[in-house]
Amino acid sequence: MQPRRQRTIARPAEFHGFGFLTGADVTLRFLPAEENHGIAFQRIDLPGTPPIPATLEYVVPRQRRTAISNGVASVELIEHVMAALAGLQIDNCLVQLNAPEAPGADGSSLDFVKTLLEADFTEQSALRDVLVIGDAYSVRGDDDRSEISAGPVFRRTLVVSYELDYGPRSPIKPQLLTFEFSPETFVTGLAYARTFILETEITALKSQGYGSRVTPADLLIFGTDGVIGNQLRAADECVRHKILDCIGDFALLGCDVHGHFRAYRSGHNLNHAICRMVSVARSPLHLLKTPA
Ligand SMILES: [Zn+2]
Repeated sequence: MQPRRQRTIARPAEFHGFGFLTGADVTLRFLPAEENHGIAFQRIDLPGTPPIPATLEYVVPRQRRTAISNGVASVELIEHVMAALAGLQIDNCLVQLNAPEAPGADGSSLDFVKTLLEADFTEQSALRDVLVIGDAYSVRGDDDRSEISAGPVFRRTLVVSYELDYGPRSPIKPQLLTFEFSPETFVTGLAYARTFILETEITALKSQGYGSRVTPADLLIFGTDGVIGNQLRAADECVRHKILDCIGDFALLGCDVHGHFRAYRSGHNLNHAICRMVSVARSPLHLLKTPA
């Protein structure tokens, strides 16, 4: 497969919402960017602070989400925005926002995808770098109950297999899905899949002052008998969301990646860890560079 050309959006586009964690109203503005710019987030509520590149080097440790910081500004919960950009293969974009957290929207990437599709795309001259995974890598979670590995794939593409199993007493049933990435399969198969949380977890978060505006209509909240006050969009929506998270987190590599990732209960921190492994290991032989 030949490297593809980089893309940006044809015109600015906006989305309004509120942050699931902080509850802050936020306007997210997507702006076109020149080739080789990559994705960067800029806090316009902190005037004068530079954009934060959305790459592994700027990721800061967080629980159950992806956040980036350049030391003077940070942005929380970028993963569903990143997934929308990566899913549509928009490589160069400046994302401005006026709050510390990206909008939660409906808990999926769907609203960001719709906003970006309305902005349309422009193909640029430079080719997109591709990291081709040639070796095998693996990383386990500290609790030894989660794992993600990466290895070569014969077809020059990105494949993610995800197994979700929270045990026999969990209201979230075991799910396994193998997903072969393309913009088309992303839009039809992943973009709509919403984030999920247990009722006990959201209760604990609210007692700590987080998630005050979140209701069962905003995302999937699982009680002991299943989803509360909402309906699944697909029987395997949860595993689809976990793969959506992977697509957003893998985009922190700043290039396309061709390989087969196999994840078992992996979350954002493990996703970042496997990306760091394949990133450090990449050599000129593995990276199809843009011709001069
Ligand atoms: Zn997510």
